[in-house]
Amino acid sequence: VSVIDQFLDQLLQILGPAGCVTDPALLDSYITDWRGIYHGQAMCVLRPSRTEELAAVMAVCAKAGIAVVPQGGNTSLTGAATPDGSGHQVIVSLNRLKRIRAVDIIDMTVTVEAGLSIAELQSAAIAAGALFPLSFAAEGSATVGGAIATNAGGTAAVRYGSARDLLLGLEVVLPDGAIWNGLRRLHKDNAGYALRHLFAGSEGTLGVITAAVLRLFPAVHAREVAFCSLGSEQDVLALWRRLREREGGSVRAVEYMSGDSIAIVLRHGGLRLPVGVADHYMLIELNASQPDAPLRERLESVLAEALEAGEVIDAAVAQNGQQRDDFWRLRESQTEAQKQAGGNLKHDISVPVSNLAELLRRCRAELKAWFDGVRIAPFGHVGDGNIHMNIIQPDGMSDSDFLACADDIGAVIYDVVESLGGSFSAEHGIGRSKLALFEQRRPAAELDLMRRIKAAIDPGAIMNPGKVLRMPPT
Ligand SMILES: Cc1cc2nc3c(=O)[nH]c(=O)nc-3n(C[C@H](O)[C@H](O)[C@H](O)COP(=O)(O)OP(=O)(O)OC[C@H]3O[C@@H](n4cnc5c(N)ncnc54)[C@H](O)[C@@H]3O)c2cc1C
Repeated sequence: VSVIDQFLDQLLQILGPAGCVTDPALLDSYITDWRGIYHGQAMCVLRPSRTEELAAVMAVCAKAGIAVVPQGGNTSLTGAATPDGSGHQVIVSLNRLKRIRAVDIIDMTVTVEAGLSIAELQSAAIAAGALFPLSFAAEGSATVGGAIATNAGGTAAVRYGSARDLLLGLEVVLPDGAIWNGLRRLHKDNAGYALRHLFAGSEGTLGVITAAVLRLFPAVHAREVAFCSLGSEQDVLALWRRLREREGGSVRAVEYMSGDSIAIVLRHGGLRLPVGVADHYMLIELNASQPDAPLRERLESVLAEALEAGEVIDAAVAQNGQQRDDFWRLRESQTEAQKQAGGNLKHDISVPVSNLAELLRRCRAELKAWFDGVRIAPFGHVGDGNIHMNIIQPDGMSDSDFLACADDIGAVIYDVVESLGGSFSAEHGIGRSKLALFEQRRPAAELDLMRRIKAAIDPGAIMNPGKVLRMPPT
């Protein structure tokens, strides 16, 4: 019996056949990333159904020095959840660890296992009379563990913060198989280092998140959504400023879409535009927990002022639930439609909000000057200064010619971002696609500190190797 067979046999004994998948036909969906860019291999997929099972499995992997790739919904946009091509790594899927352990409506917390999808958690919160606010287009598949491990942001971050801001407690299986139970339902807890924040955004490189305590908020009973067209980048900022000053806490989303990005959605998504064609668009949602809040009047009044001031060309307020969903579909279909539109170079960038107009203007001007014909299709989260500066393959250009420009296009964009005090990775993390960028664009002292943390928690370097940080060989 080979060493590998012995290893697999140990895992099988802990997890049983349903928890240890080795059939190559069943591995397919786990070893390719959502974008279909990264294709890996795996010895097996492990599917624990209890934290203790995972702990036992991790101890076996640690002893054998076998690398582990945690995986939730496999919706990473940076190849973070895909194993390498060696076939020597194992995937730990959390898709059987998905119970809601407790909902407490006085504490306003939910204690939930890592494999539950974000959409399932949203529904559970609604059933309990509360709101779980994290929201993004992949929420039907993306999981609690994945969202925490990537510190996902999404469309409501402007009001409620990113996954990290919703995180109160955590349960983690560490690389040596030990369980850290930090599932405290405390809104204040300053006892030493905030370890939970170390795992938020760690992208599976420090341990496997098995459960979390997350914050809930009062349920939403009134919603109003508007879709606007605007004439310039500066108007985007002016409208956001006006909204924030007038509506402050009731702004739940303020989303930007460029003329090109809307054109792509209209072509590939079969959707209709509720306003006239323009170079810039914004979707606005106001929310309130009081059912009788006069949100419609308030939204119409801000938009009327903005029209008067010349900040908005045209605006439509959704008249019913169907229209509200239709407006949102124009925003939520962006990633999917761009996937169908051809090669797509993604740049998930952020700048101080005050520099957002400059970011949009300069990226467009500099890219147009250098790369004739590229389609510049940015969209994103205005209130967080976070834009997905996606560049789409020009019609008629070959894949290889387009990909050959990737580094040059990236350099133009990231230089603009850096000069405006921004980040090359706003909410999608590093994964494997931004390893080199991370090394180029962050101070050596910062990287060194992170490597020391990684080496202290994962001395055998078995957690998701080749992602986030390149480590010296062990
Ligand atoms: C259409 C689309 C829209 C998106 N929109 C947004 C958006 O608006 N905002 C945003 O922030 N992101 C967005 N994303 C990307 C987002 O980061 C991921 O969708 C999500 O957060 C990852 O969750 P997942 O369960 O799919 O994790 P996976 O893709 O499976 O994994 C992502 C990373 O987390 C690690 N991981 C997963 N589970 C665990 C765990 N239990 N313990 C430890 N590590 C773990 C993996 O190893 C990997 O490094 C979008 C993605 C798509 C496809």
